[in-house]
Parts: sequence; structure tokens; C-alpha cells
Amino acid sequence: MFRERVSNNIYVFTSEIYAQVTAGAIVTQEGIILIDSLPFPTESREMATFLARTNSPGVRYVVLTHYHADHSYGAYLFPNADIVAHAKCRDLLIKHGEPALKAAQAEEPELDEVTLRSPSITFDEGDLSLQLGGRVVRLIHTPGHTEDSIMAYIEDDRVLFASDTVMPVPTIADGDTDALRASLKKVIDLPIENLVQGHGEVILRGEVEVVVEASLRYLNTIEKKVAKAIKSGKGKEWLQRIDIESCGLSRIPLNGLVQQIHEANLVTLYERMIKDK
Ligand SMILES: [Zn+2]
Repeated sequence: MFRERVSNNIYVFTSEIYAQVTAGAIVTQEGIILIDSLPFPTESREMATFLARTNSPGVRYVVLTHYHADHSYGAYLFPNADIVAHAKCRDLLIKHGEPALKAAQAEEPELDEVTLRSPSITFDEGDLSLQLGGRVVRLIHTPGHTEDSIMAYIEDDRVLFASDTVMPVPTIADGDTDALRASLKKVIDLPIENLVQGHGEVILRGEVEVVVEASLRYLNTIEKKVAKAIKSGKGKEWLQRIDIESCGLSRIPLNGLVQQIHEANLVTLYERMIKDK
């Protein structure tokens, strides 16, 4: 796990085991607000150990930015914290999260000790502000990557935990392209010093707009290319010819995962467009 401090008492933890997934912490005199929790117990525990050594009474809230395993599994290590999420996160954890955890545990003994924590504080409209020790963390619903996706914004520090709304390649296989576009536009509207992506490196102020614009352009491009393929009667296999570079992004980040996500995006769009025809 890689740890960095991005602002006064705001930390980012990046996994070295799984796809550079990130978690964050806002440390205050009255307790800690954790944003996501990493997937594997070794790293989640490493993060918990670091936080226990700060002069704060402990983790008070764990915000889950969405129900996906790589963001939510570590929450079980903070039994005294309230879990905060979008209302849909709760439903999705029960519906998809529980069976997925059982399947993952069968493959990965390290996950045996993981149990899913269900959110106890939820919101479904507008924003939700968490206030603790003089810090304010604004949670903003940003569907698109998933229905329940949220971002966490610390206005005083201009730090945005964008979660998977911003990552090296937008991911829509479990989400919705139009919703993701609208959520990406919400990102550009915020004044940002540091943007913490759901996966990958922290993005600094000067690059935020460039990165978000590239994501928007990517979504528009894949839609156009897939629509054209369908119109000219191409089969699903043909989609393999649409390489990610021709859609304006690089396949290099996240050790090959970006390429897999890109392929899944194309197939998802293809299937959706064929169905709507
Ligand atoms: Zn995700």
C-alpha cells in the first residue's frame, strides 16, 4: 500500500495489490472520516494501523463511494464506525455484494474474515454533508459508473475523492453512459486542488479539466464507433478492432486492466444498442 498526504490531515492510500484502487482519510480531533476501505485485509489493516497512530479517537464514519468489492470490503475492520452511502448502495450490497463475496471467498482464502457492512446512514436525493471536528465533507450523488456512485468533496481544502467517476478509463459495464457524462460535468464545476481517482494516481489542479474532457471524449467516441459498427452489420467480434488509443486514451495504466475495461465497455454498448434497435 502506498500512502500520501494531499492536504492538511487528508491522506490517500493506494493499493499495490489490486488495480491501484484508492481509499482516503480525513483525520480530525473528533474522529476520522474514511472514504472507502480497500479490498484486501492486509492493506486495509495496514491503513487501520496507520490511522490508529494518529492523535484522533478513531474512525467515526466509513463512506462507501459505491458497492463494488474493491471499495467496500475493508469496512468490516471498523466495527464502531457508521457506514455512510447512497441509499441504493445498501440495496446493491444485499443483491449483488453478498453473492459476489461468497464467490470471491471460495477463490481467495484471505477474504474469509470479510463480512459486508451495510450502510446505516444513507441519502437518496441531493447531497449529504458530514461534519466532524471542524471539517465538512460533502457527499454528492454521481451515478454513471454505478447507480449508487457518490463523490466526497472537502470544500475547505478543495480535495475531491471522485471514486470511479474518474479513473484512467471510464467504466460503464455496470452503469450508464449518459449518467456518467452528467456526473463528469459535475466534477468540472468544482474548484479542485487535488482529485483522487478511484484507481490510479492523484490528479493535480492543472490536469483535472484535461482528464475529465478526455473521459467525456472517450465516451462519445466509443458510442459513435459502436453505433457505426452496428449500422454496417458488423458482429460483436469486430469490436476488438476498436483500440483504446483510437478513442483517445492509453492502455498502459493499471497493468492491463484498462484494456479489459475498454473491451467490456464496447461489448456492453453493443448489446445495449442492439437491444434498443
Ligand atoms: Zn467500481
